[in-house]
Amino acid sequence: MYFSTRGAKNSVSSAQAIIAGMATDGGLFVPKDLPKFELTELKGLLNKSYQKRAQVILGRLLADYSEAELHQCIEAAYSSNKFDHSAVAPLVEQDETTAVLELWHGPTSAFKDMALQLLPQLLATALRKSDDTDEIVILVATSGDTGKAALEGFQDVDQIKIITFYPEHGVSAIQKLQMVTQEGQNVAVIAVKGNFDDAQSGVKEIFQDKGFQAELSRKAFQLSSANSINWGRLAPQIVYYFSAYLDWVKTGRIGWGQKVNFAVPTGNFGDILAGYYAKEMGLPVGKLICASNANNVLTDFIHEGRYDAKRPFYQTASPSMDILISSNLERLLYHLTQGDTALVKGWMDELKETGSYEVSSAVMAKIEQNFYAAWINDEQTRATIQAVYQQHHYVLDPHTAVAWQVAADYRSASGDDTPCIILSTASPFKFNASVLHAITGQLPATGQSEFALLGELARLTGWKIPKGLAELKDKSVYHEQSCLPKNMKQKVAQVLNL
Ligand SMILES: *Cc1c(COP(=O)(O)O)cnc(C)c1O
Repeated sequence: MYFSTRGAKNSVSSAQAIIAGMATDGGLFVPKDLPKFELTELKGLLNKSYQKRAQVILGRLLADYSEAELHQCIEAAYSSNKFDHSAVAPLVEQDETTAVLELWHGPTSAFKDMALQLLPQLLATALRKSDDTDEIVILVATSGDTGKAALEGFQDVDQIKIITFYPEHGVSAIQKLQMVTQEGQNVAVIAVKGNFDDAQSGVKEIFQDKGFQAELSRKAFQLSSANSINWGRLAPQIVYYFSAYLDWVKTGRIGWGQKVNFAVPTGNFGDILAGYYAKEMGLPVGKLICASNANNVLTDFIHEGRYDAKRPFYQTASPSMDILISSNLERLLYHLTQGDTALVKGWMDELKETGSYEVSSAVMAKIEQNFYAAWINDEQTRATIQAVYQQHHYVLDPHTAVAWQVAADYRSASGDDTPCIILSTASPFKFNASVLHAITGQLPATGQSEFALLGELARLTGWKIPKGLAELKDKSVYHEQSCLPKNMKQKVAQVLNL
């Protein structure tokens, strides 16, 4: 059973939480009780595939889905024609105490695929279970990775339409190409003449427009979200923490029950929160290392207990972490206050009204017990990519590099040499220009096409260009619409033939 973080009394099943995306009081759905796994149970998963591990772990989290339903969802999401590695999320050891968990083997080469391949399956199944005949309209505002991963996941899924808005000049060339060439009968992709905040605010306004919702409802449409506020995006991410641990134990490097740390490049706090859930569910986790770029609002919060979003916004070399409001922190606060929804609602209201809030020392003590946080700038990010390439011949993307360096800083600051798993959230080929700059020490010559850069990075490193990116060159552009932020609602109406 799932409840709102802000106190609405009614509980819902996981299927209902996934359809709704968000609670009616503006809160996020959280599980009442987390399932617990004993070590002996985990031992039974040691020699199982990623899919089998997912079946067992999700089976306990999404208990209203039958075994057969989950099996079907998982097989469709993590099949070999979607993921180019048989392990789905392989763990690559770098030295005795460091391993990288590669979460980017899915169709769009970013870790968002781990959840956004499964969410559409879970949602379509939830609709069948609930006899809900409305067509679901997924609205997405994206700064790059989420939009493409959602389009790819929802492409041609029955009873669902997806409309993605991206800032016309706010995404990388590769990211834009990935979106405008998207195939599928149920997809729309629209450039917004503005920045990401304009696109995001536009989507939020549509969600809050009661008159428009009523009109949609008369035509049998319902809006929903593929953002990481949806429980159906968070739950699949818990699986890979377990899976990574099992894989490291399997190599003999880690003993059963031995703790490991996880270092996570963090934006909206979804990925690292899944790690907290894994720990609460019985996985032997030491510290969760929250790594940020110059948008270091979470670093300050974890150090000081004061969340202050009123600060300059920086565009960095790790753009998927350029975020000042980390929505999923709300869920952590719910759990750390033992479900004190009045407190959580108060903080969230304060954040909305004043741009900041401050938590108690009791909450801070629990944060310190579980988390470490630090940030690095773009120059340090490039230096990390270069150093890791030279020492390990391993190619980090800029997001993963942030986590790598912050994990190293943690080790030297604390003296804690617990084995650490670095979550790798994107293929380096998604950020060719930055990675080439870091490795060669020179900015790539201007005017080179993205495809030339892909080729250059592959030649230099001997790494293989992911299929989804290599194929972009031969795809047709299907989506050339754009609109002003104030006309986004009109565009939605047009796409749906209202
Ligand atoms: C989305 C994203 C992140 C941040 O993940 P959160 O769950 O939002 O904290 C980090 N790296 C990459 C490449 C991403 O796409």
